[in-house]
Amino acid sequence: MRYLKFCLLLFLAAPAMAQMTVKQDPAIKQMTDEVSSKNIETIIRKLVNFKSRHTLGDTSSKTTGIGAARNWIKAEYERYAAESHGRMTVQFDTLTQPKSERVNNPAKLKNVLAILKGTDPKDARVYIVSGHYDSRRSEIMDPNGDEPGADDDASGTAVSMEIARVMAKRQFPATIIFMAVAGEEQGMYGSGHVAKRAKAENWNIDAVLNNDIVGNSHGMENDLKDNVHVRVFSEGVPTTASGNEKQIAGMISLGGENDSPSRELARYIKETAERYVDYLDVKLIYRRDRYLRGGDHIPFLQQGFTAVRVTEMNEDFHRQHQDIRTENGVDYGDLPDFVDFNYVQKVARMNLSVLANLASAPAEPQNVGVITSGLTNKTELKWDAPKEGKKPAGYYVLVRETISPYWEKKIFVNDTHATLDYSKDNYLFAVQSVDGEGHESLPVVPKPVR
Ligand SMILES: [Zn+2]
Repeated sequence: MRYLKFCLLLFLAAPAMAQMTVKQDPAIKQMTDEVSSKNIETIIRKLVNFKSRHTLGDTSSKTTGIGAARNWIKAEYERYAAESHGRMTVQFDTLTQPKSERVNNPAKLKNVLAILKGTDPKDARVYIVSGHYDSRRSEIMDPNGDEPGADDDASGTAVSMEIARVMAKRQFPATIIFMAVAGEEQGMYGSGHVAKRAKAENWNIDAVLNNDIVGNSHGMENDLKDNVHVRVFSEGVPTTASGNEKQIAGMISLGGENDSPSRELARYIKETAERYVDYLDVKLIYRRDRYLRGGDHIPFLQQGFTAVRVTEMNEDFHRQHQDIRTENGVDYGDLPDFVDFNYVQKVARMNLSVLANLASAPAEPQNVGVITSGLTNKTELKWDAPKEGKKPAGYYVLVRETISPYWEKKIFVNDTHATLDYSKDNYLFAVQSVDGEGHESLPVVPKPVR
């Protein structure tokens, strides 16, 4: 019915384009082209066909429930891994979640991890892309009855899976983990387990991309059709700064509250995704998550890792956390017919381009410092080359005004120090490594040094 009524088709016209130089890596472009909306649709419909993927639901059936769903996800990942020449391995990451507010009896949860090992044994960096495969009904504790969870979050799970299929055949110096986690709706328990495990086992996680609710391109109240924008949520003040007096005092005195590692990752996503995905305008949202909501990036932030949340531009809350029904003429339920598979394809391409660029890049520069030993209107920066992994061809010094949301200048330096005529009092800076093909590391904000 929705299609019969008048629909305001907003031709989100190509935002006015400023002239900029875009250098694409043909290998990354090729991979983004291989991401298929048809495959994404197949994955989402298959996940919906398990009827319910409630974390506390049935695990014994071969055809329905969360047990059947996770076995299928694992088998799919294994199918992709068959083309990786042994570099991709698939595992269940298992935990027993004790009784808690939204878990009435201890429950066994299984995350599915497909790990594409990096080709450089000296490069320990790990990149994670995540979606949650559990779903819920209107009543959070109800494990019975249909809850399709097509948008929330079969869409994010499909992103992890479809890009794993494409990337499994390729080689990257750093490791990429394609994750489908459980327990998000009950309290982010699946991702919490991986985050704690990563901390305990010293995983060198450089970035986490959490895709949750990335498939709807139709706004609920405004009837707005928008398949051009996608939101990337990033925290400003790091979650771990809470209680860290020194870190807070530094931000109060010199700023930096807009330059957390997660916000640098968000800016990096915007730059990289718009380099590779046409008609995608990445909207940076300068907050950790939406009102009243949370997601699987938060447990990683709590453990001190860099993480962001990716979510569609306009949510339709009639299609999330709702039993399938019609009430007062309004249709409810998270059904696959309301997912825009071409839009999910763009989001998947965005994730792929970012992961490929990061996992191909040299590691970040080390000990990045801004020299503050004297009063001067110049800015002197120094840093060390990354200790391990491939050698950078050089570095970009990034510059922006203190009031600017994005980096404005990218100055190439073939050295490990730079003196700029921009005053450190008036501008913000960061340094990133870059290789000969133009793959950049995440930017590192300098600390004051003498
Ligand atoms: Zn969700």
